[in-house]
Amino acid sequence: MAANFSGGGGGRAMLKGLVFDMDGTLTVPVIDFAAMYRAVLGDEGLAAARAASPSGSVDILHHIDTWAPPEQQKAYEIITHFERQGLDRLQIMPGATELCEYLDSKKIRRGLITRNIKAAVDLFHQRFGMKFIPALSREFCPYKPDPAPLLHICSTWGIPPSEVMMIGDSPRDDVKVKKPLFMGRYGDMNLYDQMLLL
Ligand SMILES: [Mg+2]
Repeated sequence: MAANFSGGGGGRAMLKGLVFDMDGTLTVPVIDFAAMYRAVLGDEGLAAARAASPSGSVDILHHIDTWAPPEQQKAYEIITHFERQGLDRLQIMPGATELCEYLDSKKIRRGLITRNIKAAVDLFHQRFGMKFIPALSREFCPYKPDPAPLLHICSTWGIPPSEVMMIGDSPRDDVKVKKPLFMGRYGDMNLYDQMLLL
């Protein structure tokens, strides 16, 4: 788990809400992203996209945004196929339930932002048994790492961004920050207490 604090002007802030990534954070990672990227772009296309990216990494959703509608639709069909395969094997991350119970005991809100589809969020909620409100899927544009969905949740809650933290497994995909504030594992009560003391 990597947590990214949105920053807040130097003062000591009270943590009032946590926003979670879904795949690889609240669920065990099951989507083979490397195979998905190869299926969409082809080996040569993937190599070219990596070479053209300053960081060497490729954001598949942004990449296909520039494609013509028929190619884009085909790409989305492939991506959705991989995501649906992932749904069949969906598992809740060990420790996630306990963390949410801990947050409830401290009256800290929890939201969710994912680049996955709404159907995946619906299935996750059904299996998890606890709701994340709001839960924004990729139907909400622009999607992360753009800060818009995170700011939208802060505004829906009526809580300033300085009192909200993003929890995810990818500093690159979850929110644009210079560096994560915390790195840790579920169940680390010491880490939870540090987060609350911000
Ligand atoms: Mg993730």
